[in-house]
Amino acid sequence: MGGKSDIKLIDNGKRIDGRSLDDTRNVKIDMDIINVADGSARVEFGNTIALSSVYGPRELFPRFMQKPNTGILRAKYNMAPFSVDDRKRPGLDRRSQEISKVMVNAIEPMLFLEDYPKSVVDVFVEIIQADGSTRVTGINAASIAIAAAGIPMRNIVTSCSVGKIEDSLVVDLDGKEDNFGSCDLAIAMATETREITLLQMDGAVSKDELKSLLEKAENTCKKIFEKQKEALRNLYKK
Ligand code: UDP
Repeated sequence: MGGKSDIKLIDNGKRIDGRSLDDTRNVKIDMDIINVADGSARVEFGNTIALSSVYGPRELFPRFMQKPNTGILRAKYNMAPFSVDDRKRPGLDRRSQEISKVMVNAIEPMLFLEDYPKSVVDVFVEIIQADGSTRVTGINAASIAIAAAGIPMRNIVTSCSVGKIEDSLVVDLDGKEDNFGSCDLAIAMATETREITLLQMDGAVSKDELKSLLEKAENTCKKIFEKQKEALRNLYKK
């Protein structure tokens, strides 16, 4: 975010890939893609592809990590070294630790972990192809993988990015827009109750622009939530 670009990101109200300002990329969801998991999902937002695999609730080992009155949620976000064209250094880095942490914060309020003392729910998110908005794609995948694992949830969490590029407010930023735009904001919410569980912003916008971005984010999350529900319905029809 915030770099200078020679590329024109918006031309005549259209973005580089032909989208208008309020269009998301093509969203595709596949469920149950990892047989050994309790629940799993693959979510694509254009060229960004996230896999999520969920296990539990299961007894937490080593035992000293157990909490007697509640279960815990662990999340691990990882961007595969082959997910971007300039090879990403494998393994833990500050960014993936931060994203893993905000994923827990985004999802935990929706779970009834107090019903599973001494247990853990493990959520893994692997980004196998990265082209912007990987954390929100990962949260969408994780949320429905948890539902597919049969873990009770208050609400499904839905997530999207919005931002400002070349004086225009847009939704679902791709890699170039994220890199060369002036602001990007990631949001996660339960669309039915309007509870916001993640709000991260990079860059600066005015108060009115922020209001407008939040409206766009809510409308976008509503559309994505419909796709999440459809994917879960199809899974249960099977
Ligand atoms: N990115 C990359 N290499 C990295 C980290 C990020 O190429 O090591 C790209 C990738 O396309 C990613 C984008 O930069 O989606 C934006 O990254 P950011 O940290 O803003 O998080 P994201 O938008 O993916 O949640």
